[in-house]
Amino acid sequence: MASAANPQHQSNLLTRLPREILDQIYLEIWRICGLCQHILLHGNGPAGKDNHFRRWQCCTEYRVDDTLQADVEKLRARLDVPLGTDIQGAQPPEIGLYCRRLMSPWRDHWPCGERATQEHGIEAISGYSTSDRCWKTWRDNRPDDMHVPSWSPYLPMLLTCKLVSAHCLKSIYESITLIFIDLKSIQAWFGHRQLRAEWKIVFGEHVAPPAFHKYARSFELSLDPDLGGSFICGNIIRTFPRPNIPMTVTIFIGYIYRASRVSAQ
Ligand SMILES: [Zn+2]
Ligand SMILES: [Zn+2]
Repeated sequence: MASAANPQHQSNLLTRLPREILDQIYLEIWRICGLCQHILLHGNGPAGKDNHFRRWQCCTEYRVDDTLQADVEKLRARLDVPLGTDIQGAQPPEIGLYCRRLMSPWRDHWPCGERATQEHGIEAISGYSTSDRCWKTWRDNRPDDMHVPSWSPYLPMLLTCKLVSAHCLKSIYESITLIFIDLKSIQAWFGHRQLRAEWKIVFGEHVAPPAFHKYARSFELSLDPDLGGSFICGNIIRTFPRPNIPMTVTIFIGYIYRASRVSAQ
């Protein structure tokens, strides 16, 4: 049976400081790695074997307007291409650049995909979805090219002691906005309805940390307009757990031509 957390009476840090100050300290620790983190499910083997979650620090500031679409429209005006006509050709070079960004599986988080590409190669943005193959295996399997960056504050803090670990679990999920940009990751994290046998190998063993459902206050979803056709198990909304704390949900629905953006709170 699990033992109770040691109250750590000898620790001035834990006994003298009010919890509000401790929470501020924890927040600054998480801020080192960014307060917005992508969660992706990807793997190497056939039929989802070796699927695993990985986090990736978000570097895209949330904006209501679409700066990429604005850049495309500026280019359209500069080249004098009428609305409704494709912008084609290899020149100027922005055409290739914007095309790649518009087709990024990272959707409106294309800057995060480009940063992943700088560190892990083109595989980080190849494919239709971010929940494809693990980037690590596509490179050169360097020992330092692991799923988890060489250092992050999460594990050291969670392994400190049971008391600090409990503080940190609450603080992490209350402070950090998790971002999901593909349905496979969303369903693996949030849960799903009864699956056909062939899908169980893909999703069967992945569950969100219980502390997420207990403490999380916000998350962001970035989805295709045709997301309904991608559900593996019916309507995911009906399978959402009912958290005690109301969550803030930001939903981006976009595609190559950035159809629309919807924010719901
Ligand atoms: Zn991002
Ligand atoms: Zn991986």
